[in-house]
Order: sequence, then structure tokens, then C-alpha cells
Amino acid sequence: SHRIITLDGPAGVGKTTLARRVAQALGIAYLDTGAMYRTLGWKLGAEAENLTDEQLRAQLAGFRFSLSGTGADSVLAVNGVPVGQEIRSETVGMLASVVAKLAPVRDAMKAAQQAMGAETSLVAEGRDMGTVVFPNATCKIFLDATPQERARRRHEQLAAMGQPADLAELTEQIRLRDEQDRNRAIAPLRPAHDAVIVDTTALDINGVFEEIMRHAGR
Ligand code: C5P
Repeated sequence: SHRIITLDGPAGVGKTTLARRVAQALGIAYLDTGAMYRTLGWKLGAEAENLTDEQLRAQLAGFRFSLSGTGADSVLAVNGVPVGQEIRSETVGMLASVVAKLAPVRDAMKAAQQAMGAETSLVAEGRDMGTVVFPNATCKIFLDATPQERARRRHEQLAAMGQPADLAELTEQIRLRDEQDRNRAIAPLRPAHDAVIVDTTALDINGVFEEIMRHAGR
């Protein structure tokens, strides 16, 4: 039957890796909503902040997001083109966080994400999946870890993608981005009242996976 599992949490906690794995185990699609905001941040740039809502909405109409496949083979595309590695840098992460504060952007992304969720079962990961986009989700998980541990994980992940970063700089960038995501007026980063909160600091990826699967059901 149709089901939605939400995975929310701050930067670097391991949401994308876990969402892919949980989706693979359940045989359903995973939706990386951060990749949607990253695509907008990358294409629109920080200047998006200076547009009127009307101008911004006109720009947003040019981005059609679609999701196909299941499990590890889930593909998020924009205007038919799969999103690539170019959006994975922390610079683009910060641009994503800047555009993610804007009401027209959040409205458009929420509508696109809900349309995908209406079509197919999903593991949806982001910041507001359990609070705003899928309030009636089957199962809501909020992942957390200390800022040091999250910076370490993101550092490792970027290195594995051939995008090595300075750990101290990354720690500061992630701190700033989380602060911005937690303090914005619309859809701030926080756990849904009915989310299961998992502190992953001392867990490895398998431990977190097992914990999520215990709640999500097999
Ligand atoms: O998860 P990821 O680090 O790729 O997300 C990039 C940025 O996109 C976040 O820092 C946040 O500002 C924004 N975002 C959001 N809501 C989501 C997913 C991501 O505001 N559901």
C-alpha cells in the first residue's frame, strides 16, 4: 500500500545515504528534497533574494522536477535532466539555504513534492518533510548528531566524491547553514511533534539504518 516515510534533520547527518538505503530495502522511491533546493540555489543564485515574489514565481515556473525509479535507482530530474554532482558543494548548499527562505520557493517545492508523494510511495528526506510537506506520513524520523560529527561525515562524503574540503571551514559553513535553516520564518528545521528522534552521533550507518527500519516496518 501507499506509504510515505519522512527523514528530516540538519546538514551532514547522513539523510541522503540512509534515505537511499531505506528506499532500497522497502522497494520504493527516495526523494532528496535538498537536491531540489540546491538546484534552485545553483541556477538562481543569491540574487533570487532581490526579486519580487512575482518575478520569482515566473522563474520558478521554468523548473519542472520529476522523480522516477525506485530504491538506489531513484532519479530526480529537472526539466528531464537528472541532477548531477555539481550541486553537492557546500557553496551550493549555502545558496540552497538562502533561496529556501523565500516563500514562493517553498510554495513551489512543497507543491512539487506533494505531487510526487501522491503518485508513489516515498522515503522523503529534507528539513520540513514531517512538519509541512507530509504531515500525515506513515512514519516520521528526525536524525540528529553533534555538529562536530556532522562536519566529519560531510567532510568524508565530499572527499569520496572527489571534492575535498577543509574540515574547520566546513564545520563553520555547516554551523551557519543550520542556524539559517533553524531560524527562518517559514518551515524552520525542527522535528515534527510526532517524529521519532534518533541521535546518530554514536551510531554507524548500519545502526541508524536498523533503527529507522524498526520504526518504518519492513
Ligand atoms: O539536505 P541538503 O543539505 O542537500 O539541503 C540543502 C539546503 O536546502 C538546506 O540547508 C535547506 O536550507 C534547504 N532545504 C530545505 N527544505 C528541505 C530540504 C532542504 O529548506 N526539505
